[in-house]
Amino acid sequence: MNPELLVDLPLARSRTDRAALLRAEPEAVPAALADPRTRVLVVRDGGIRTDGPAGVRWYTVADVRAEAEAVLGVDAVPLDAWLLLGAEDDGARVLALRLPDHAPVPAGTGPADAAVHAPAGATRAGGAAGTGDGWASLRVVGAALDARDAGLATTAVALDAWHDRHPRCPRCGAPTRVAQAGWSRVCDVDGSEHYPRTDPAVIMAVVDDADRLLLGHAATWPEGRYSTLAGFVEAGESAEQAVRREVREETDVVVDRVEYRGSQPWPFPGSLMLGYRAHAVRTNVTVDGQEVTAARWYTRAELTAAVRAGTLLLPGRASIARALVEEWFGGRIEA
Ligand SMILES: [Zn+2]
Repeated sequence: MNPELLVDLPLARSRTDRAALLRAEPEAVPAALADPRTRVLVVRDGGIRTDGPAGVRWYTVADVRAEAEAVLGVDAVPLDAWLLLGAEDDGARVLALRLPDHAPVPAGTGPADAAVHAPAGATRAGGAAGTGDGWASLRVVGAALDARDAGLATTAVALDAWHDRHPRCPRCGAPTRVAQAGWSRVCDVDGSEHYPRTDPAVIMAVVDDADRLLLGHAATWPEGRYSTLAGFVEAGESAEQAVRREVREETDVVVDRVEYRGSQPWPFPGSLMLGYRAHAVRTNVTVDGQEVTAARWYTRAELTAAVRAGTLLLPGRASIARALVEEWFGGRIEA
């Protein structure tokens, strides 16, 4: 566990050098493509190419080019499909290759998003998620990746999602082009530069004086799925204010003390989750019926019994929600 973290957050463990100074070099990507030491991961639609149990599939430039050109049916992969993720201790570069969301995938593998809404470890087309040679959603395999791979894969998924959703200039509407080794987009009409967006969201383990935990069920979730409350920080609002507002809006529970526990990127498509423990001073629950359709308090014994009975599905292990629940619980919950 990263000693900087109060709670262990799978997608926030990495300390890989992001090599930000290299991005401004015009030849950063061509030089990396020409270096036989360069390692490449492949990203597409919130997922990564995997290799074996819970591992990123790492390619040489030559191998990934050959596979990508065959899959895409092109003579050469365009230069703006490559993202510079960082540098290894020995100076070797790490790249991501973006494949279009609609790109065909090799036989026997399913689309990356097939597992997004399935419980962690659920079987998908082409094999069990994260355990075969294929594609897996970062949501599913994120917790099983080692710290370095988790950080690089998270960065790749975040950048890929931003490029997908921001092809045009927000000022004039003209198409933009990729710059800075994949870390910005430039509008050649008005000269504006645009950088990857990260939207702050708060997520909170609400606990009462009896040390019970409040979990809610969102309207869009599968039956039995419960998690910590969460919501986006609004314009002109602090994170702490957002915690109190969201809890009140969604459940009518009133919170006073709010304690920061840690943050984790959640690139689906562009959130930064700010995790809190919040203390409830009014515990009567009335759900809003819109975003949250059910919510209730759990003792540890009640939570354990519900998980064992299969009536409570907790969030996946890559999520900060799971980390906040297990921090309150006092240990790993087997489910
Ligand atoms: Zn413009």
